[in-house]
Amino acid sequence: PKSRVKYTPEGDAHFSEDFVQKVADHYSARTNQTLEEREASPIIHLKKLNNWIKSVLVQLYARRGDVVLDLACGKGGDLIKWDKAKIGYYVGIDIAEGSIEDCRTRYNGDADHHQRRRKSSFPARLICGDCYEVRLDKVLADDAPFDICSCQFALHYSWSTEARARRALANVSALLRPGGIFIGTMPDANVIVKKLREAKGLAFGNSVYWIRFDEEYSEKKFKHSSPYGIKYKFHLEDAVDCPEWIVPFNIFKSLAEEYDLELIFVKNAHEFVHEYLKKPEYIDLMRRLGALGDGNQDQSTLSPDEWEVAYLYLAFVLKKRGQPDRT
Ligand code: SAM
Repeated sequence: PKSRVKYTPEGDAHFSEDFVQKVADHYSARTNQTLEEREASPIIHLKKLNNWIKSVLVQLYARRGDVVLDLACGKGGDLIKWDKAKIGYYVGIDIAEGSIEDCRTRYNGDADHHQRRRKSSFPARLICGDCYEVRLDKVLADDAPFDICSCQFALHYSWSTEARARRALANVSALLRPGGIFIGTMPDANVIVKKLREAKGLAFGNSVYWIRFDEEYSEKKFKHSSPYGIKYKFHLEDAVDCPEWIVPFNIFKSLAEEYDLELIFVKNAHEFVHEYLKKPEYIDLMRRLGALGDGNQDQSTLSPDEWEVAYLYLAFVLKKRGQPDRT
């Protein structure tokens, strides 16, 4: 199904219009898999590892009764994580109509593709929309303020223009309460640029992914070009095949500060795994999610190629300035 994206072209927004539509169409067309299909995926252990990273972030920061905003919530893959955290209310927004429909099915606990899930125990509102274009403080005036905002594997889609990147952060900032937390995961630009530098041409990858930059982004040009709109094509077997944008983390950090969002931590996924897999409760969680084999080494069931893809991502936590601090 094609999802329609509406625009109010301003500044350079029209420039990225086609690409934003491509992203929406790509995700909208991806329907839920059966359990068998999922287990047969060449990146099943990577998917489980990513779920573990997101679960750790949720467990670290969510409190019982929290009001949660899930930006680019997709098919609702994190609903169970929020349920376990006993949150009080959930708003999920995604640009892909098909994904929001899947998310609603999951939320209601309806059987999809032979998988029956428990209905989520918190009330929720699910909306189809462009989080990086629309002023969400208006749309969500009755739902705000939020205790936690989460944007998993999706914030980089805002980096096509400065206006969109600003809208993303302005939305988060306007909707979080003072002291509220913004958690997320996105590609690690340092790793991607390092790999591009080491590559022979403008493309690199392995058996499960490839990244290809346009001609205009030879490594030399990076230093001189705008930090927005640095586009590459990302292909991940059985998951992604669409345009994405580099998010230089230092620019992200200072832009976030402009919107009163202070960095609490940023960690590459490898570092994140090494740090949190030392803790027994997270080892158990990893085992329950099926991302660990018998041993407890991080990559024990991930293939080396999947582990390399994990390295392409980072996890971040920001906090909205102002009191009260959480206890
Ligand atoms: N957060 C979900 C998760 O972790 O399972 C989905 C991640 S998926 C890799 C990226 C999601 O970002 C897709 O569902 C896509 O439709 C959504 N997305 C991309 N651009 C968006 C935008 N401008 N506004 C809202 N959602 C967007």
